Amino acid sequence: MNYRHAFHAGNFADCMKHALLVALLRGLTRKPAPFFVLETHAGAGHYDLASEAALRGNEAAGGIMRLLDRSCGTRAPVDHTSAGEAASTVPDPALAAAIDRPPAGDTASAEPDPGLAAVVDRPPAGDAAFAAPDPALAEYLSLVDRSGLYPGSPELIRALLRPDDRLACCELHPDEHTALRRLFRDDRQVAVHRRDGWEALKALLPPVQKRGLVFIDPPYENPDEFRHLADGLALARSRFPTGVLAAWYPIKHRAPVRAFFAGLRPRDVIAAELLLRAPLDPTRLNGCGLLVVNPPYQFEQLAETILRALLPLLGNGEAGEAATVTRLADE
Ligand code: SAH
Repeated sequence: MNYRHAFHAGNFADCMKHALLVALLRGLTRKPAPFFVLETHAGAGHYDLASEAALRGNEAAGGIMRLLDRSCGTRAPVDHTSAGEAASTVPDPALAAAIDRPPAGDTASAEPDPGLAAVVDRPPAGDAAFAAPDPALAEYLSLVDRSGLYPGSPELIRALLRPDDRLACCELHPDEHTALRRLFRDDRQVAVHRRDGWEALKALLPPVQKRGLVFIDPPYENPDEFRHLADGLALARSRFPTGVLAAWYPIKHRAPVRAFFAGLRPRDVIAAELLLRAPLDPTRLNGCGLLVVNPPYQFEQLAETILRALLPLLGNGEAGEAATVTRLADE
């Protein structure tokens, strides 16, 4: 249990994962019947990108900072620690207004994050054309701005719940669990459990609502994680056959991902992947994927639109970069 998401919050993998998560939830809100979301590996809920942990590797600079910056019309990648020297930007007035608003509900996080604020505070440059974010990404970006802190998956999910929808979050790490509990302390729609997420698949499924999403985002600290995931997906499918199941996975090199796919029942399963480069160096996070079982109507096309919009914003034009959505082949 060494993994702390604060060191990675807002990196390119979070952007990909969270943009697709928002699209999945939008799929669920198409029907009026209430839904349930189970998040097995929830983390702290949100992350201060100006914290020491976040600034250590400064991974958000290649992720959300860049995304906000480039989708506001900037031409060059920006490191927010040296925002003054960055290429000129025309901030989107809507983004700037969103970030100026105090976050809803949580008084403890009323200060907008200075890192995010820096992106939209830069003075407009007279001639640069404003490029609006892709509509498929706009909702994710608007949720990021409004929070002031970088929102983790529980906060994003919560923002999209309707009054009768429910969220249950599991988190094992004591500090992350405490932070999450504090975030949702007076929230009757959210249950926060300090319990093993794999075990929760058995204990908390199927939900009374009979429809919903299981979101699985393990830390991949040990080599067994893909095997846990395959077992967890099989269990979740048997207990909640109509549920949408989504699992994030890292792509360092191909072999473990191929082995993982080979162990799955392929029926109605898609894999949405974003690669920043060919997955040849197993010591680097070269890309990542979201596996979705029972994807909502038209999610496949939407995921492809989102990944294609993200690639030029997050990528560096390296050999082998790609945005793909593939359907696992039925045997
Ligand atoms: N889903 C979050 C990030 C989670 S990082 C987001 O997108 O914002 C993975 C988290 O899983 C870590 O906080 C880690 O403490 C927690 N974790 C690790 N093993 C776990 C387990 N077996 N059950 C529940 N949580 C676990």
